Order: sequence, then structure tokens, then C-alpha cells
Amino acid sequence: EPLERLCVHESIDEKVPIDSFIDALNDLPVPVEVIGDDDPELDETDAVASYRPREWFPDAGWVHCLRAGYDEFDTDAYESTGTPLTNSTGIHGTTVGELVASYMLMFARRMHVYRDQQNQRQWYDPPYEQPFTVAGETVCVVGLGTIGRGVAEYADGMGMDVIGVRRSDEDVRHVSTIYSPADLDEAIDEARFVVAAVPKTPETEGMFSTAEFEQMRDDAYLINVARGPVVDQHALVDALEDDVIAGAGLDVFETEPLPESSPLWDFEEVIISPHEGSTTNRYHHDLAELVEEIFDQYQSGNPLRNRVA
Ligand code: NAD
Repeated sequence: EPLERLCVHESIDEKVPIDSFIDALNDLPVPVEVIGDDDPELDETDAVASYRPREWFPDAGWVHCLRAGYDEFDTDAYESTGTPLTNSTGIHGTTVGELVASYMLMFARRMHVYRDQQNQRQWYDPPYEQPFTVAGETVCVVGLGTIGRGVAEYADGMGMDVIGVRRSDEDVRHVSTIYSPADLDEAIDEARFVVAAVPKTPETEGMFSTAEFEQMRDDAYLINVARGPVVDQHALVDALEDDVIAGAGLDVFETEPLPESSPLWDFEEVIISPHEGSTTNRYHHDLAELVEEIFDQYQSGNPLRNRVA
């Protein structure tokens, strides 16, 4: 059955102004309506685009997750009703790639410390041995999908040696050496920066914990732009306290918002961005373009891009 309307769930407002998103969907040939949790009436002629999952979504004809990480969505429920579920991977290479580049440059050139000092009106001379250039350093990118490749492109452009971890050993542009996930220890061993860019799955949960931090150089930085649970946060705090690694750039956390009581806030060598890796003032355009593309594929009976269930 062809789709007759697109329902945009109000949860998208967490990331993108809902009106901007709806305006950007102006090429869609069906009406677009906002739905909240009070009107859970959907049938197979409805499409849904949502940031968060709801149990009643699998009654629709097609559901699109407005995030790359669809780990909160119950794929089994979609498989049992046969409702296709698609996600928003493919559009975060530049946004999250730039965020990772910023973390690396900030740590290397000590920008986070200068800003802290500026807040105190302090003209500050860092210890001579601290500043370095990212050029010539090695970054290990774990997960070479859209985000991992985006990171690799920026890092290569900044003169870094990029190595990576992926399940297939196929070459990836900008990446000099590929390790398999079984050789994670070897891959992270010599890197100055280790970047987590994998989805949250049973295999990646707790992928970075005590043993990995011990394997890393003591002057290395961990950057997590994937999902909080990919890193054992408790082990990370211990590693930072004991100077097992130098610091961390964190966009994602086990609990979001990061609670005020978290010890992570207090480390000078931790930079926290509040899960804003993908957010820019044109994110609504990127999301809308993807929704329109998959909508057309659905209507014409073609395979759906980014189908995950
Ligand atoms: P993607 O699907 O394009 O890439 C993920 C890659 O990880 C794939 O190549 C996959 O094969 C690989 N992978 C999966 N398991 C692996 C493992 N055990 N070892 C090595 N590689 C493995 O997705 P993406 O757009 O690059 O996003 C990646 C993840 O980042 C998302 O799932 C999401 O959780 C997170 N994300 C965060 C933000 C943010 O704002 N910080 C934004 C978008 C996505």
C-alpha cells in the first residue's frame, strides 16, 4: 500500500526544531503531521519519522529513526510486523568528523586549558613539554562507517597517520593500516588518539575498559562519539585518576544528560560536549533529504536505503 502521510513524532524536537524539519520536507508529495504520544493511531498507509522509539510505531507502513544509532529501537518488533525500519546513517561524516578533529586539536594545542585560564583573566604559559601538533601523530579509528571515515579524512588532512579497526579487511581511503576487532589491543597500542565510532551492539558494549586503557599509551586520549556504553565509564574515571591515559573527549555518556555528580566534569584533561556531535544549524536539511529519498524508494517499491529491520 502506498504511503498517504508522514507523521513526525515530537521527540525530534530534542535535536532539531520540529517546524524547520517539516519546512525542509517540502518536496514530500504527502501531508506531514506532527504526532505526540496522545494519538497512537497508525496504519500501513502512515510513515513515521522519530528520534525516539514508541511501542506503537510498528503498526505503521514504514518507520524512520532520525538517528544513526538505532539501538533504542526494538528491531525484533519491526521484523515481526514486517514494518521496515530505517536509520539515519550516512549523514554524520562531516559533523562528527569535525567534532573529533576539534577534540584532537584542542588537546594538542591546549585550547581547553587556555579557555579555562581566560575565564580567570590569566595569561598562562603551559609546561614546555605539553603542547604538540596533531601532524605526525597516530589516530586509531575504531569503526570505519560514515563517522569513522569522516574522522579519517579530517585526520589525514591534518597530517596524521590514520589506522583503523573494522570487521572486514578491505582498504579504506585515508587509512594506512586496518586491524580486525580481535586485534584491538594491537591497534590502540601506539596511537596518540583512539576514537570510538562503532554502533552500540552486544559486541561493542564495554569495548573500552581497564585492559584497553592499560594497553593505550599513557599520553593517549580516548575520544567517544559513539554511544556511552561502548566505554566502561567507571573504568575510564579510574584510568584518568591514575594517569593510565592522558585524557578523554566525550560526546556520549552512560547516562545523558551527564549527572552533575559525575567525576568526569572535574578533569582538566576531559572535554565534554553534550551529545552535540551531529547538531548543526542545517541538520534538519540533511535529515529531511534522507527521509525524502527513502520515502521515494518506498513508494516506488525499491529497496530502502539504510534499512536496519
Ligand atoms: P555506520 O553504520 O555508518 O558505521 C558504523 C560502523 O561500525 C560500520 O562500518 C560497522 O561495520 C562498524 N562496526 C560495527 N561493529 C563493529 C565492531 N565490533 N568492530 C569494528 N567495527 C564495527 O554508522 P555511523 O553513522 O558511522 O555512526 C556510528 C555510531 O555513532 C552510531 O551507531 C551512533 O551510535 C553513533 N553516533 C553518534 C552521534 C553523535 O552525535 N555523537 C551521531 C551519529 C551517530
